[in-house]
Amino acid sequence: MSEIEERLAQVRARIAEAERRSPYGQEVTLVAVTKFHPLEDMEEAIRLGVTQVGENRVQEMEEKRRSLSAPVVWNLQGHLQKNKVKKAVACADLIQSCDSEEILKEIDKKAESAGKVQDVFLEFNISGEESKYGFSPEEFKNAVEAAKACTHVRVKGLMCMAPNEEPEKTRPVFREGRRLWTEMKKEFPEGQITILSMGMTNDFEIAIEEGATMVRIGTAIFGARQYH
Ligand SMILES: *Cc1c(COP(=O)(O)O)cnc(C)c1O
Repeated sequence: MSEIEERLAQVRARIAEAERRSPYGQEVTLVAVTKFHPLEDMEEAIRLGVTQVGENRVQEMEEKRRSLSAPVVWNLQGHLQKNKVKKAVACADLIQSCDSEEILKEIDKKAESAGKVQDVFLEFNISGEESKYGFSPEEFKNAVEAAKACTHVRVKGLMCMAPNEEPEKTRPVFREGRRLWTEMKKEFPEGQITILSMGMTNDFEIAIEEGATMVRIGTAIFGARQYH
């Protein structure tokens, strides 16, 4: 067994355990976060059954997508600059980091000219940390109204991140994420809002216990990232 195979098996077992503890009875989708990891690691994960990958930077996703033909869902989850939106729309199946009205409108515009309806999640900054992007919970109504006005954007869920703290401290943040997501479901047509994306290496089990339906995990599968 390779290291990735072993780690992936462990992550899947931990997800399954947390699903059993969750009061919501949800099924959890794993996004393997491949940023800063080589294409070979991504290919191996896909061979082992991973169906969704996550990248933070448009250029890295573009390059990897060009060299990889495997059928996999490409999630973009890093903060987007306005001037990168056109390329993001061209290469992302799903943009999880739709974090401001400005970016929402730009995605709408670029998707329209590309003849595409772009699937997105609205990202919320629940903890209010300066270093994090996203709509504040107070902006909920505005964010939803702005998204509804975009004819070439389809909101499918909510994404949030907890502070990088001891895992138990993340629980209230995830609980609020679930509450906002439940509100969001009421705002859009039945069956459109299906995904609550929260939980990373450090805290995914707690996120699942609090109702996450998607977790984004990098380090626990691929090891530490080598930033270059
Ligand atoms: C990097 C990143 C992840 C994965 O983080 P790990 O701690 O390596 O699991 C998940 N979500 C977002 C938005 C990220 O930027």
